[in-house]
Amino acid sequence: MKSLQDIRDEFPILRKQVHGKPIAYLDSAATTQKPQAVLDAMTMFYQNTNANVHRGIYQFAEQATKQYEAVRERVRQFVRARRVQEVIFTRGTTESINLVAATWGQSAIGAGDAILLTEMEHHSNLVPWQQLAQRVGAELRFVPVTDDGRLDLSSLSTLLDERVKLFAFTASSNVLGTLNPVKELVKKAHAAGALVLVDAAQFAAHGPIDVESWDCDFLAMSAHKMYGPTGVGILYGKQKVLEAMPPFLFGGDMILEVKKHNSTWNELPYKFEAGTPNIAGVIGFGASLAFLESLGWDFSTRTGADRLCTHGFWEDQGRAAFWTDRGT
Ligand code: PMP
Repeated sequence: MKSLQDIRDEFPILRKQVHGKPIAYLDSAATTQKPQAVLDAMTMFYQNTNANVHRGIYQFAEQATKQYEAVRERVRQFVRARRVQEVIFTRGTTESINLVAATWGQSAIGAGDAILLTEMEHHSNLVPWQQLAQRVGAELRFVPVTDDGRLDLSSLSTLLDERVKLFAFTASSNVLGTLNPVKELVKKAHAAGALVLVDAAQFAAHGPIDVESWDCDFLAMSAHKMYGPTGVGILYGKQKVLEAMPPFLFGGDMILEVKKHNSTWNELPYKFEAGTPNIAGVIGFGASLAFLESLGWDFSTRTGADRLCTHGFWEDQGRAAFWTDRGT
């Protein structure tokens, strides 16, 4: 297992000094620093195989496509999705949630329906639903938060009635560090007939994601909170749900056939990836997943933890560990 010093040495920015002192970076919840391997992967791409993806039939273009699609497979394994078609590259959690609100939400939610959120949501899992609710005449409901920073689950049975079409909640709060019981919440939402979107922006760097076992319909996360570059994110969606959704953005790569007056849509996942993607960023994200996997999850899944107290490392008997405890 890597020591804290080994891990620290992988981050070039941490060699800098500020006001003559070494850096203690404690803002990883906002964005993480990037290990050398992530920076190298992006530079190597630009230096050696820079080309657009899914277009050219020359060597660089084929290599670029291969590298880009290899990261999709790596993400599939990381979130334990069944199919690569269920992994869509976006610009980040915010765009992933907006995609769902603008496409699935716009067609599946109507006047008189309800969207259930929690009082601990980040703005990016609140404002898109406010906008959708205003457009279609739906109601927003909120699971309250208790005085000790947990979801008040006693209210769920009243809140989750047949009018609720979606329950969108965070796996881990960016303000409180609370780890929510994802599996239990998904089960309750499905029993009431609602689909579920999990905001994993904060959780993704701290514990294993298992979309198959969680059974969520959508999951969103951002590479930059996982030691990867900014401008890259993931939307996971169940294949059946994604297939039924209209596209989000329109343009190159998301089309199958284009005529003067109409077009048909590409298959998944390309239907939701219009235009040239952040290729170097995706390749850097692949390197950040390798970095995260090199740490192992036993750091962050200490027995009984139900709260992430901070998003940094601490030293636990000579080995690096994520600081998770019961919030005491
Ligand atoms: N959800 C949560 C819980 C977050 O902490 C953040 C980022 N602070 C977001 C969503 C939005 O992520 P991004 O800005 O990368 O789109």
